[in-house]
This record gives sequence, C-alpha cells and structure tokens, in this order.
Amino acid sequence: MIKSLVLGAGGFIGNHLVSRLKQNGHFVKGIDLKHPEFSETSADEFIIGDLRDPRICAEHVTSEFDEVYQLAADMGGAGYLFSGENDFNVMHNSGMINLNVTDCAIKQGIKNIFFSSSACIYPKENQLDPLNPNCEESSAYPADPDSEYGWEKIFSERVYLSAMRNYGLNVHIARFHNVYGPFGTWNSGKEKAPAALCRKVAEATNGSSIEIWGDGEQTRSFLYIDDCLDGVLKLMNSDFEGPVNIGSEEMVSINNLCKVILKHANKEATLHHIEGPIGVMGRNSENSLVKERIGWEPKISLAEGIGKTYDWIAQQVDKNKVDLSVSVEKGNG
Ligand code: NAD
Repeated sequence: MIKSLVLGAGGFIGNHLVSRLKQNGHFVKGIDLKHPEFSETSADEFIIGDLRDPRICAEHVTSEFDEVYQLAADMGGAGYLFSGENDFNVMHNSGMINLNVTDCAIKQGIKNIFFSSSACIYPKENQLDPLNPNCEESSAYPADPDSEYGWEKIFSERVYLSAMRNYGLNVHIARFHNVYGPFGTWNSGKEKAPAALCRKVAEATNGSSIEIWGDGEQTRSFLYIDDCLDGVLKLMNSDFEGPVNIGSEEMVSINNLCKVILKHANKEATLHHIEGPIGVMGRNSENSLVKERIGWEPKISLAEGIGKTYDWIAQQVDKNKVDLSVSVEKGNG
C-alpha cells in the first residue's frame, strides 16, 4: 500500500486530495493547524501541528512515506493577499514551512515530493492587458510578481529545485491557477472570487446589486477541484519536475463570472463596482507544456463547476440563516 503524507490536509485542496488518495487505496496521514472546516477528514491519521516548527516537521516528515504533498501555506483570496496587511506573515510563515519541509525531506530521503506553487509568481508587467496575459512557464523570469505571496512561491520553487539538484530530491512543482469547488472557504475573509461571488449571489434577492471589486474587467481562469487533483496526481506519477501550470484556459472577466453564477442561480441583479484589491488585470493558464509533458488538461467547464460550487455555497448560506435564527430564538427565550 502506498503511504502518502499530505501537509495542509485541513485546507481546501489538501482535504480533497486526502479523499482522492484514500479512494485510490493509499494510507494517508494529514497534518495541518486545523481540521477541515466543512467535512470530516478521510485521512487514516490526522495531526494538528505547526509546520513552521522544525521539530514538528522532523517528527512527521519521515522516510516511512513514499510520497509527500506539500500544500500548507498562509493563503487567502485577494482581500487577504493583496491588501498588504498580511505581507510579512505570508512570506515568513510559508517560507519557514517550505525550508523546514525540504530540510526534512532531504535528511529522510523522501522519494517523491509535490509542491504547490502559484500563477501569482508570473511578472506583473505580462499581465497588464486583461485580454492578452502571458503566463507561459518560461515567462517567469526576470521575476517580478505583484505580491509577496508570489515572491514567496517563486523563492520556494527555487528551494525545491536546488534540493533536487544538490541532494537528488525528486520534486514535482505545479503552479495552480485559481482552484475552486465545494468545501472551500466562502465567508472567512480568505475566500477567493468564485466563492465570494457565489455567496453574494446566494444572499441576493432578485433586483438587488452585487458588489464587485474594481471595474470587473480583470480576467482570470478558474480550475475545478476534480480537474486540479487529476493534474496533481498525473504530475506526481510522472518523471517531470516542472514547474508547470495546472489551470484552466477558459479565461473570463470577473463581471462575466458573476453573470455565469447569476444564470445558474436563475437570479437577476445589477453589478455594483467598488474599490478593492484586485491584483493583476489579466491572468490565464497556458497549458501547452503540461499537455505535452504529462498529457493533462481540464475536463470540467466553468459553467459546470460553478453550478456545483454555487449549489453547495447556497446550502451553507441557508444553513447559516437557520443557525442564526435558532440562536436568536434561544437568546430571546
Ligand atoms: P488553504 O488555505 O485552504 O489550505 C492551506 C492549509 O495550510 C490551511 O488549512 C492552513 O491551516 C494550513 N497551514 C497554514 N500554515 C500552516 C502551518 N504553519 N502548519 C500547518 N499547516 C498550515 O489553501 P488551498 O486553496 O487549499 O491551497 C493549497 C495550496 O495551493 C497552497 O499552498 C496555496 O498557496 C496553493 N495554491 C492554491 C490556489 C487556489 O486557488 N486554491 C492557487 C494557487 C496556489
């Protein structure tokens, strides 16, 4: 039986990955600062631990595992990453995790390690035109990401790649582009655009307005979680180290993303543009390399993935309303 260790197993992608690895018959141990928020973990063993602490890493990142998936990071949506308020924590916390993990992986002779990097590493000047962003892997240098989050990721890519060159660590690096789906954070302040807009639409009544940060013409692509997991596993089981894009090429403006959600919800609302952190003006995955090297491409359209995500978030919004009214009733009683 393959033994897998998932770091960041309480997070959105980590929790889904644990379930997929269990379905595939692996023994899975997960580590995180917290349990998954919206479901029980399927891991055989789940440790609450802080990977910034080298002793925690040394205790759990051990040679008994055939493979390690490193997804733990201080992470959030635009409101968290681009406001500037969390810059030091993002760099320091995630940097420490990756330095500790590579150190232990080298010492323990880990055979196979996956690192989740991000499309946020790409230079900001290549992403000024919303209709023609350039996110080819080869465009990453000279580096000039638009956020400290992106700088930490490109630094850590280099930490993993140098561990590979100097110590023979077998690494696989994916640059994820906006992964979304059910069981992701939707009202914590760390939610990303698809979850935030699904929540706003679920809360809206017909004829009300939906707030959008910026003019809404900024473009992105969004990858449904099941496609993301297919890509991660294909990359991990290949002999390709990357870094490689794992994203969707179905680019959409934030205004149009909102319209896709409204259509699925069968609601009408006006879009109200307000000031807010928006990141770069354009970003889209470029999948030539990933198709060529590991034969992966996404299968789930934006409309289909958004439908599944909206239905789950709408349920959460309803559940919250019920919980709130029960606690008000109890308070009144
Ligand atoms: P997430 O925030 O849901 O998961 C990250 C997990 O790491 C969290 O559960 C968090 O508690 C855990 N963590 C943070 N600090 C830790 C510490 N010191 N010790 C132990 N655990 C710690 O994020 P996600 O969306 O699941 O993303 C997973 C990975 O993929 C992250 O590295 C992220 O940067 C990367 N990524 C995600 C996306 C996306 O769209 N979701 C895009 C690009 C890159």
